[in-house]
Amino acid sequence: MLADALRYHVGPPLMVVGVTAGVQVLAVAGGKNTTRGWSLLGSLEAWCYVAALALWGLLSLWVPSREFRGPMPQHGPAPRYRANGVQFYCVSVILAIVGLIYNQEFASRTFYIFPEILAACNVTALVFCVYLLIRGKKWPQTTEKLPPRPIVYEFYRGMEIHPRFLGVDVKQFTVCRFGMIAWQVLVIIFFVAQNRLHGFDFACFVCAFLQSVYIAKFFYWETGYFDTLDIIYDRAGYYICWGCLVFVPGFYTFTSFFLVAHKPTVSVSGAFVCLMMGLISIALNYRVDWEKQYFRQNKGKCFLWGRQAKFIKATYVTPANEKRTSLLLTSGCWGLARHLNYVFELLLTLSWSLVGIGRGLGPFLYFFFLTILLVHRIFRDEEKCKAKYGRYWDQYCEAVPYRLIPFIF
Ligand code: NDP
Repeated sequence: MLADALRYHVGPPLMVVGVTAGVQVLAVAGGKNTTRGWSLLGSLEAWCYVAALALWGLLSLWVPSREFRGPMPQHGPAPRYRANGVQFYCVSVILAIVGLIYNQEFASRTFYIFPEILAACNVTALVFCVYLLIRGKKWPQTTEKLPPRPIVYEFYRGMEIHPRFLGVDVKQFTVCRFGMIAWQVLVIIFFVAQNRLHGFDFACFVCAFLQSVYIAKFFYWETGYFDTLDIIYDRAGYYICWGCLVFVPGFYTFTSFFLVAHKPTVSVSGAFVCLMMGLISIALNYRVDWEKQYFRQNKGKCFLWGRQAKFIKATYVTPANEKRTSLLLTSGCWGLARHLNYVFELLLTLSWSLVGIGRGLGPFLYFFFLTILLVHRIFRDEEKCKAKYGRYWDQYCEAVPYRLIPFIF
């Protein structure tokens, strides 16, 4: 009863009001009086930034390129995506770097009006989420019937899983073609802004470089992303769409943004240690994801760590009443803990945050947030797997008892 009240009536309004305003407040505070102040609607200049980025993202999905079909959903046809993430990423980064070489003032200006840019993102995202809610309720694109819920909850959660808008998949656009690329471009911009203000700083370089490697890896693996919880399970609403249109540009970039106004104090050797720790974490995170992919591609007939892969054969029934089989890996990295990939994801984030050590909590806010997000995600993912695999999932949990950190949790 209490859980339902929190889930449907308390959590969503608190999030929508608190976090929506909070992102802008944080940007003003993190700018330490060197940016414009809080703004409700943004400025014409800020709107131009947002419109240009949105148009660029849309354009990348409109241009003819290879189509990728996501997993078959319970309702409606398989979602269609554009498989041109690497090209989009490379062209965007090259354009950003070339543009900044010719006009470095642009970086300082972007930093200065950042709270206004977030205001424009906020208005755009809220209007878009209202549109998605109305369309999902009045003119859904599938025949799926959802039990009625409080309207704020529906707004927060979203109505449809794979809606399309202007001929593109809404989640591919908001996550990959706006949020993630905004994160990358802003990290470069804040690095240049920091350089102009304080001169070259190796710690800021490490911070920008590690984030860039991480984002490049995301685009390299973009089609793999279409098989994750966010895409196959979450609905397009405030949580995902506002999250990627505002929270990713505004909060995921916060460490870089914060370091513009707060020059790092860490030494070159300290920053070098962070760089090494970050690179090793990226490699290990990739390794864990790769082991699962490799194992599934080879249908379990493969070697991991020099031994034949071990697994549990899990049968399940699809909503269309078809019997299928999945293999759950119980050796290699996946034999140590059920979400070891998240550990390295967190260590990577910690590495780029540590360059701001000595500057208070600001550089670590994203790390704290991600810890909460990923722990929450573990429970969401396990709820999904338990519903899908039933007793086979219990068997898997017995074989691999740790969720995140071997022998601890
Ligand atoms: P996982 O890669 O852990 O995938 C979970 C899914 O894999 C499960 O739902 C299940 O799906 C399948 N699975 C679970 N256990 C096994 C097993 N033992 N053997 C085979 N398949 C298994 O989770 P994510 O999709 O969340 O993460 C992917 C990457 O994205 C990670 O590197 C993660 O760190 C990163 N990430 C980053 C975030 C960020 O904001 N920075 C947020 C979330 C993720 P099935 O139904 O196919 O069986």
